[in-house]
Parts: sequence; C-alpha cells; structure tokens
Amino acid sequence: MADLLLALDVKGKEKAVAVAEACAGEIDAIKIGYPLVLSAGLGVVKELAKFGTPIIADFKVADIPNTNSLICEEVFAAGCSGIITHAFCGEDSLSAIVDGAHAHGGEAYVVCEMSHPGALTFLTGANAEKMAGMAKAAGADGIIAPATRPERTAVLREIIGNDMKICSPGVGAQGAQPEDVKKYVDGIIVGRAIYEAEDVKAAAHAYKLRCI
Ligand code: C5P
Repeated sequence: MADLLLALDVKGKEKAVAVAEACAGEIDAIKIGYPLVLSAGLGVVKELAKFGTPIIADFKVADIPNTNSLICEEVFAAGCSGIITHAFCGEDSLSAIVDGAHAHGGEAYVVCEMSHPGALTFLTGANAEKMAGMAKAAGADGIIAPATRPERTAVLREIIGNDMKICSPGVGAQGAQPEDVKKYVDGIIVGRAIYEAEDVKAAAHAYKLRCI
C-alpha cells in the first residue's frame, strides 16, 4: 500500500485552497512547487496547512551548499514538512539540504530519476543509481523515482533498501498507473489527473483506493 500525494501545480491561492480542501480526506500529503509558489507566494503553505495535510516543497533544489541551507530555512519556516532536492550538484550541496531539513524536523527527498521522456538524457541509468547511493549516504529520508519506468524504480529500491521511502510521480497524465509501481514505493504522486478532474474529490478518492 502506498500513500497518495497530490501534486498541486495549480496557479493562485484560491484554486489551490479549493482543491486542497476538497481532497483533504483522500490524500496523505500535498506536493507544492514553482507553479503554485510563484503565483501565490510561499504564504500559501499556511493556508493549505489548515486542512491538516503535510506539505512537501518540490523545489528540486540545485545550488551551492550555503544557498541550499538558506532555501531550507525559508521552506521549513513557511510550514512545510519536507523538501525535494536534486543530487547532481554533489555531496556537499545534497548534505546541506538533508541536514537543513533534519535541523528543522523535516524530511528531505532526492530526485534520482525523473518521469518524463527527456530524463533519459541524464537522469537515468548509472547517474540515477549513483544519486540513489548518494541519497542513502547523506541520510536522506527518501528518493523520487518514476512510475513511468517501474523497472528503474525497482533497481533504485535495491540500492537504497527498505529503510528509505520512494515517492513516485508519473501516474495519470504522464501515462503510468498506480498498479505499475505500488509494490516498490511508499508514495504515489498524482497531479493533473486529480486537480484537472471535474470532481477532484472523487478523482482523489479513486486514486487513493488504487494505491491500496
Ligand atoms: O500532473 P502530473 O501528475 O504529471 O504531475 C507530476 C508531478 O511530479 C509534477 O509536480 C512534476 O513536477 C513532479 N515530478 C515528476 N517527475 C519527477 C519529479 C517530480 O513528474 N521525477
């Protein structure tokens, strides 16, 4: 059984709050990213937190250690409980995010392999496997691995073992199904297939059942 994470990539506070409120009882976490935060501001976290769902900041951080630490401070001060980072900037940059998250009582997730076709240029194969090893060595709480390539997610699970979580995007609009990956992962990320549905609560409910 996997948790259901809503990728809330809508624009503006009003729409975000409406979708979060409608889905509140059906989802285990909300993942926010640049589309929402750039349109509504980081203060939207406090509005979303009212529905009692943990909020993960998907900023795919990729900077020097000092900047990464400063980003962590803002993300957790805003009320997020997790942050998603890239690993390709190296061990020091990655550790700044993991240590920063833990210093604030939060979690850090590391993108190892992405779900879209273009990910096959760099974010797959040996690079992804190396980053999974880096995530484990840095003490990260989990990794991000694609539902669109379940066989790759299975390889990454072998590398990190069972003490770390895997959250997996690509279900719904990108073509994957929960059944493709749920045996390998702890969380399934669904965005457009829920927030673009006519009845977002019903869509979230249906995906929640399929994550069991
Ligand atoms: O709308 P959809 O379900 O395709 O949204 C997927 C979400 O997961 C988006 O927020 C996207 O940025 C994110 N994501 C992804 N692939 C990754 C990491 C994150 O699709 N490897």
